[in-house]
Amino acid sequence: MIVASVIVDVAVMQTDRPFDYEVPDRWQEVIQPGMRVVVPFGPRHVQGFVLDVKEEAEIRKLKPIVEPMDIVPVLNEELLSLADWLTAESLCFKISALQVMLPAAMKAKYQKFIRKTREQSVQPAVESLFNNREEIPWEEATDAGKLSDIRKEVKNGTLEVIYSVKSKGRKKTVRMVKCTLSENELAEIVNIMPKNAVKQKEALLVFTGRTHHWLSLKETGISSATAKSLIEKGFLEEKQEEMYRDPLGGQHFEPDKPLMLTENQQKAIRPILDNLNAGTSGTFLLHGVTGSGKTEIYLQSISRVIEKGQEAILLVPEISLTPQMTERFKRRFGNDVAVLHSGLSTGEKYDEWRKISRKEVKVVVGARSAIFAPFENIGLIIIDEEHETSYKQEENPRYHARDVAIQRSFHYNCPVILGSATPSLESYARAKKGVYTLLSLDQRVNDRPLPTVDIVDMREELREGNRSMFSRTLFEKIKDRLEKGEQTVLFLNKRGYSSFIMCRDCGYVAGCPHCDVSMTYHRHRHQLKCHYCGYEEAAPYVCPECTSEHIRHFGTGTQKVEEELLKLLPEARIIRMDVDTTGTKGAHEKLLRKFGDKEADILLGTQMIAKGLDFPDITLVGVLSADTMLHLPDFRSSEKTFQLLTQVSGRAGRHTLPGEVVVQTYTPEHYSIQLAAEQNYESFYQQEMMMRKMGGYPPFYFLALITISHTEAIEAASAANKIVTKIKPALSSAAVILGPVASPIARINNRYRWQCLIKYKREPKLTEILKKVLEHYTKQGKSNGLIVSIDIHPYVL
Ligand code: ADP
Ligand code: ZN
Ligand code: ZN
Repeated sequence: MIVASVIVDVAVMQTDRPFDYEVPDRWQEVIQPGMRVVVPFGPRHVQGFVLDVKEEAEIRKLKPIVEPMDIVPVLNEELLSLADWLTAESLCFKISALQVMLPAAMKAKYQKFIRKTREQSVQPAVESLFNNREEIPWEEATDAGKLSDIRKEVKNGTLEVIYSVKSKGRKKTVRMVKCTLSENELAEIVNIMPKNAVKQKEALLVFTGRTHHWLSLKETGISSATAKSLIEKGFLEEKQEEMYRDPLGGQHFEPDKPLMLTENQQKAIRPILDNLNAGTSGTFLLHGVTGSGKTEIYLQSISRVIEKGQEAILLVPEISLTPQMTERFKRRFGNDVAVLHSGLSTGEKYDEWRKISRKEVKVVVGARSAIFAPFENIGLIIIDEEHETSYKQEENPRYHARDVAIQRSFHYNCPVILGSATPSLESYARAKKGVYTLLSLDQRVNDRPLPTVDIVDMREELREGNRSMFSRTLFEKIKDRLEKGEQTVLFLNKRGYSSFIMCRDCGYVAGCPHCDVSMTYHRHRHQLKCHYCGYEEAAPYVCPECTSEHIRHFGTGTQKVEEELLKLLPEARIIRMDVDTTGTKGAHEKLLRKFGDKEADILLGTQMIAKGLDFPDITLVGVLSADTMLHLPDFRSSEKTFQLLTQVSGRAGRHTLPGEVVVQTYTPEHYSIQLAAEQNYESFYQQEMMMRKMGGYPPFYFLALITISHTEAIEAASAANKIVTKIKPALSSAAVILGPVASPIARINNRYRWQCLIKYKREPKLTEILKKVLEHYTKQGKSNGLIVSIDIHPYVL
């Protein structure tokens, strides 16, 4: 009897081990490790991953596999063993470690698959394929083009299961509308509209704060009929615009050639190339100031990898996966590049994944999860902006892409490059210890000067009677750039950059009924949404507490800045980038392209504009309030402030025109602001290491966070106490346990949350102990409604 051991998609502790199934005769030639199969589990049919196939004497009776979901393995041997490592390292279920490696289109869709295969099994096709060993036509019944459709196709003699193929790159015409009223007129007109004109009222409200902006009709949610009557009244204007579904689809990129490396670049790339040639693993920390030519080093190292017939993965933070970045790779490597980011539809992501899996590309450029790209001959892995916290996944499996990269490099004996202008303290400390090899680029290419930085004390401005959000220095400089036709980037370092609804009369804030957080206002649908539990409701027009009508939406901050700026400089052309203006697909790219084409003088935005921007005419960067982030209860707040300020400053003067930066702050003396202005990473590192040592934080201590939740606060608290009592004696005296305390967000989705933090240096038994805790609370019938989650090396405390 042929037996397959299968990890089933049922996430409880009892199922976190493989189950054996009989492989029926007709599937014996097909089923291999790394394939997904449908198996009976209790009364249900579920999806599972085959880990192993072996022959066994027929002594026990096993349930048979229902049928395979793949005809070729979707996970190779290396990825299967990586899943073992991931499970052990992050204390997650094996099934989540396996699933995180696949694109979304291939997850959780098995019910649909089962329904489809019931009607039309893959069996006859597979059988004839394996019997005849020749290509057979396979009529597919589903209509191609719809999302998450599943069909089967014979390609090059193998039968493949293919998911949704969404038509790409095709042009479509989009109806755009713009409100021609001023903000005041809009408010007035809405007020005097007849009571029964509800739809028109709502439609106009969509434009609050966005009058004179073109929006696609679809994105506004306004019906054609309503739009028509508003256009007739002259309140809206309309135009047609052609759009591409895929921003890169059908675009042609002029190929470019490698640049002649500067002496500094040559010094930095040599050890990497040596490693590549030798075929040995090793981690390099490439510490290079902004504009020092790190990306060119990545490009040339990857060229070497391709010459060797190997593959490369480049990770970039989601936010800096701009068309500019992608374009540089497409120019250099043409069709050898696959790009994976969250802007793609599920179908498009799957298409890219399939290109990788079929070895149709040599390079993957992608965000965090691209680290699991199913290559089989990796020659190099690069993590750009390695300090970015988005490389840590905040849900199961809670992995850090850096650790996964290094783990994979051991298997392929290949180098890893971690690049940053502001390395994380953890990585820099490792480089200093010699665990990583430190490579430095301390000058910009061609000795372009780093921008000069002015720190402006906003307390001084107040004393001088300037209550505006612009200091005199910054305002004068913006005006000067407008006159010269140069560009300015204004950066608002704001913590909650989402908008909310508040009553001006009683102070009521619309909060989620299920969580201890305020809800986010979504302007185009006039809806409130909780970003923790997904709860949604219509935003109120009157205050539910005091019935006042002065309940209004408090803008994103960027909006207020825009208003004030327009008052001061009415002729300025401003592009605002924040959650409100970039909510739709491709909006981010479009706004940047507009700025790049010099259709605007000022780019105003939040975090999302801090990175990757590379435009020649930006000669001024203004940081409106450098300290908002400093006062967050987060041990990384100084590090994050330093990183962000360095990043934004790096946007200025990248080309021939020299750059200037103005940093406005209420705490000009703070070392992270002072040293960022000097671009003095080394001193910042020294200073911050001292702080971390005193506070007992990484990289001096490791952290592990245990979170316990229950629908009753008392249950969560008492379980948290029990856990601490149990763990304490098992740890060495060097370990510190903080808590239990209520979590910073004390309730999410009606569950009360308590947590404790373990600080430790060396606790070889810790994962074992924590695993026991998890096991105890995930046993069926034992959990008493408690959910325990464990985050080793957490980023959010
Ligand atoms: P980083 O990734 O460190 O920010 P980039 O690789 O983007 O730096 O380089 C900054 C700028 O310098 C880019 O416009 C790039 O084209 C240019 N550049 C990089 N290396 C060279 C070189 N060797 N010769 C000329 N220009 C270069
Ligand atoms: Zn009120
Ligand atoms: Zn909620």
